[in-house]
Amino acid sequence: MALAAREQAYAPYSGYRVGAALLAEDGRVFTGVNMENGSYGAAICAERSAFAAAVGAGARRFKAIAVAGGRGAEADPSAPPCGICRQVMAEFCAPDFIVILGNGAALRRYTLEELLPLRFELEEQENAGG
Ligand code: ZN
Repeated sequence: MALAAREQAYAPYSGYRVGAALLAEDGRVFTGVNMENGSYGAAICAERSAFAAAVGAGARRFKAIAVAGGRGAEADPSAPPCGICRQVMAEFCAPDFIVILGNGAALRRYTLEELLPLRFELEEQENAGG
């Protein structure tokens, strides 16, 4: 589903096309694509657009996300989520949330804990402050 979503990516400036498929705990899957903008800072990543679609549909807990991204016709199996997307994952997902990167032929699997150790969590910060 991430590969299929990637076909709809809007990346006229970088040519870096990304599709994501996010699996909610209730079994629903939400897809997203990166969407660039002539005002570059207005771009949004595929991972976050998938989370936005899911949260808008009422999903709050998630098991895994598959991400297929890269510049070429084939997705690059080593195209990891950016830091902002990792932080968005941390808002809704447990440390054992699974992140799968790949192009169908080659897959790499990580946990959110591996990609974002020592993550920022407001509740922990408040608790740490006493
Ligand atoms: Zn991102």
